[in-house]
Amino acid sequence: MQYTIVFIIGLIVGSFLNVCICRIPGGLSITYPPSRCTECGKRLKWYHMIPVASFVFLGGRCAYCRERISPVYPAVELITAVLYTAAFHRLGAGVLFIKSAVLFSLLIVITFIDLKEQIIPDSLIVFGLAAGIVFTIIDGSHSFKDAVLGFAIGGGLLLTIVLLSRGGMGGGDVKFMAVIGLFLGWRLTLVTLFISFVTGGITGILLLLTGKKGRKDPVPFGPFIGISAVAAVLCGQTLISLYLNLY
Ligand SMILES: [Zn+2]
Repeated sequence: MQYTIVFIIGLIVGSFLNVCICRIPGGLSITYPPSRCTECGKRLKWYHMIPVASFVFLGGRCAYCRERISPVYPAVELITAVLYTAAFHRLGAGVLFIKSAVLFSLLIVITFIDLKEQIIPDSLIVFGLAAGIVFTIIDGSHSFKDAVLGFAIGGGLLLTIVLLSRGGMGGGDVKFMAVIGLFLGWRLTLVTLFISFVTGGITGILLLLTGKKGRKDPVPFGPFIGISAVAAVLCGQTLISLYLNLY
């Protein structure tokens, strides 16, 4: 029953995250005006906006003009619901779960904006910094020093890479990783960095080999950071113990 409630909350939050993903890059308000069809401009009724269900019942099309609706909308809702449920399963009810849910929401919004527009808006970084500081104060799981170390290692390492490589990675990635470091503390920050380099590197090589991207084409790194941070929260401790057991 608890899992069902968390899943439904995830779907509803996911629906709000869709609004953030669409509007924040253009500097638009996320609370006004109410949702409209991007094609015909007709205002949506409440029963057109039920997460996932409306998309399925309307056959993935606008109720008025029958224009196709992007499957990214229900995908974002489902991803949010699944990640919230996984975090709840892993962490139980409490501050740590709320902190992870806020972090996951931020990761989803930044990842999808970066995929679509190749930018990471500063307003989201500022929100992440503020939320990270608040959660470091109220959640006793790691010290302030640990959070600051995570911030410095996460941002510092990527900044070094940006300065050395001149391209490939952008300033947005540096700020994004610093915010994640603040949330996770230095240990899980290292796990996040490791997973993102491995997954990003393999994907980059595959894209080059299959000819989908040239050597000079930019590949947004933000999504890899986002996915890796989720993995670090959900199974980072297990990975750290496995690694330490090797010695
Ligand atoms: Zn329409």
